[in-house]
Amino acid sequence: MKTLLLLLASTLSAQNNPILGEDTVKVSEHVWAIMGWPNIAIVVGDRATLVVDTGLGPRNGATIARVAAKLAPANQKLYFTTTHFHPEHASGETGFPKGAILIRDAVQQSEMESDGKRMVDLFAGRSPQQNELLADWTMRIPDVTFDTEARVDLGGVTARLLWFGAAHTKGDQLAFVEPDRTLVSGDVVQNKVVPGIVGGGTPATWLAVLDKVAALNVLHVLPDHSAPGDGSMVAMEKKFITDLRNAALELKKRGTSADDAGKQLGVEFKAKYPDWPSMNVAGFVRSVYAE
Ligand SMILES: [Zn+2]
Repeated sequence: MKTLLLLLASTLSAQNNPILGEDTVKVSEHVWAIMGWPNIAIVVGDRATLVVDTGLGPRNGATIARVAAKLAPANQKLYFTTTHFHPEHASGETGFPKGAILIRDAVQQSEMESDGKRMVDLFAGRSPQQNELLADWTMRIPDVTFDTEARVDLGGVTARLLWFGAAHTKGDQLAFVEPDRTLVSGDVVQNKVVPGIVGGGTPATWLAVLDKVAALNVLHVLPDHSAPGDGSMVAMEKKFITDLRNAALELKKRGTSADDAGKQLGVEFKAKYPDWPSMNVAGFVRSVYAE
């Protein structure tokens, strides 16, 4: 019986569990990750530490801050930032210590102010557990906002926080860690995951963002909702979006409805990209039609 329960517990994969654990994996020389929903990056320098994303609700934020302190007990300064304003990425803000410095791009901050509460209410309605995790949510005012780039010097390692334009959301933020050349990519570059646009940019603006990402010459990628990988993930993301966008535009030209195109391309792309775990392209096809 115990074995069965353990088995059940482990199949509730960390990818969907809204409570983050304290185990970390090393992504590159200065970058660690808590793998979960979502993956959390912890960048450790000689003097300071930077966390990317907060988990869902303050309890997860507090867990991450504890893990960050354990990884670098001597670092007095803690910075944190968020890939985008969606609740599993940003609603744990107040779980971080009061002295931690919150930085994010200005576009993302304006999305947080205009739409953050609605998203938190939506996520709280999904399950009693999420409701409980979000019960003591409040917004935290960032200490620093920036337009296109902020550099955070952590001592021996620098994180470039970058806003390259709209993709999954309008305010998607990337973190590029040097000298590791590790990209904390949020939803913008993922590992075999069909992209989704949630009130964000268009497929065309997403591709424009990826061109800027390509110029960074990335070596490692830590995405938010899939496995880490190497720099080839950037080109793969661009190839998939280009491929799907061209196919959808072609069907649009021929007069196929968006719904039919979504169904048809779902089948075609399942065959074309057989190792992708899920191929629900309907939403992205609608985004192409709406461009
Ligand atoms: Zn999201």
